[in-house]
Amino acid sequence: MLPAHQRVWTNRNLRMATIEAVGFDMDHTLALYNSATFEQLCFELAIDNLINVKGYPEEIRSISYDRKAVARGLIIDKRHGNIIKVDTHGYVARVRHGGKLLSREERRKYYKRGRIRLSPKRYRVVDTLFDLPEGSLYTELVTLKDSQPKLLKVSFRVLFDDIRNSIDTIHRDGSLKETIVAEIPKYFKRDDLLSKTLDKFRSAGKKLFLLTNSDYSYTCAVMNFILSSKTKNWEEYFDLVVCSAQKPGYFLESGKGTKINGSKCNCFSGGDAFFLESKVGSLGDQILYFGDHTYGDILRSKKSVGWRTAMIVPEVETEVLAAEPVSRSIRALEETQAMIEELSLEKDHLLEIGEDTVEIQQQIESSLSRRAILRKRIASIYNPYWGSIFREGRVPSRFGGQIRDVACIYTSRVSNLSHYSAHKFFASVVEQMPHE
Ligand code: IMP
Ligand code: MG
Repeated sequence: MLPAHQRVWTNRNLRMATIEAVGFDMDHTLALYNSATFEQLCFELAIDNLINVKGYPEEIRSISYDRKAVARGLIIDKRHGNIIKVDTHGYVARVRHGGKLLSREERRKYYKRGRIRLSPKRYRVVDTLFDLPEGSLYTELVTLKDSQPKLLKVSFRVLFDDIRNSIDTIHRDGSLKETIVAEIPKYFKRDDLLSKTLDKFRSAGKKLFLLTNSDYSYTCAVMNFILSSKTKNWEEYFDLVVCSAQKPGYFLESGKGTKINGSKCNCFSGGDAFFLESKVGSLGDQILYFGDHTYGDILRSKKSVGWRTAMIVPEVETEVLAAEPVSRSIRALEETQAMIEELSLEKDHLLEIGEDTVEIQQQIESSLSRRAILRKRIASIYNPYWGSIFREGRVPSRFGGQIRDVACIYTSRVSNLSHYSAHKFFASVVEQMPHE
């Protein structure tokens, strides 16, 4: 059987035989960044921008990048300088202020109802892998501000807005891309199965397109590295290429696409989803789109134009591989949990009929301590502050719930599709109510 980290997981039935066109986002979808190197660069360039443009003190150079400080799906509370993990029901499960994990009582002081209503003015969701450096930068600067208030006099809100603006600037003014393009192999991974995957779709008669927010020149630099070979240029893999797309607006508003001169294929800048459908000659659920951004790629393409969606979630690979050594503990935890529930029911029954519960109470306590040991062992493989990004306790995290709700299928990288037939029927597991 295909190892779990290479599998494609299904939330909604998807018959590949009915898909006429397959589209791909580029950054973090087809093109997989060497994340640690890339994030470190963003972090450093943003600090330069904060000092040189926004007048922040040189002392902020003393902070360092902590990759574990944030993860996708977390929420930044600009009012209080906190980072929050909520579960799929919107309950605030974990909160970090700077480097400090808050206790249950401290959490309740900030979030009295235990839940939050996501207003964009106050909160910012860490939605894409591009958002990780700003989350880490915020955590470190909140810590610095708390320890040296005279050094950073700005409010938590202004601090976040300044960081956001610096990150936005380095993406837009060319400084980030210039450094990356100068040393492409340092910043991207090459995946030898990628060309095979695209060829497989093509051979099965599917039309292929690239739809990216990156501009044409950056797209060429990156795609050349990840896909071009001595015999084939990257553009030959696609029937249509759209750069500078401005998703999610691309799925929501009308826009005019302009042809890019000099390209070897049908290549456009901007436009809108209807323009793309007319060029590709397929529409709605005849199109499958691969993307990494929950909102900009997946939710909008599904809700606004009815495309089928495939979400690329590299963290599936990381977490599945990390969980392998504790797989027996995970199974033992499920059994122990079921045992605790059984014993508790039995204890309630004994109490009702007036019988002695000393023995059963001892059994419950020994199961509870076994559960605590197993939980600790399992938790040690995940992010030390945030746990699994897909789960919080017994329910999915907000991020996990979103993947389940908006992605028809999901997998850790596009090339995992090379292990499946291009006509595959991806069937979802039968959903069950708890009583069924
Ligand atoms: P995608 O096509 O949706 O994957 O978008 C990738 C493009 O968005 C890349 O060119 C990034 O440099 C750019 N990008 C990512 N974050 C930001 C930002 O905060 N401001 C401006 N551009 C960004
Ligand atoms: Mg992307």
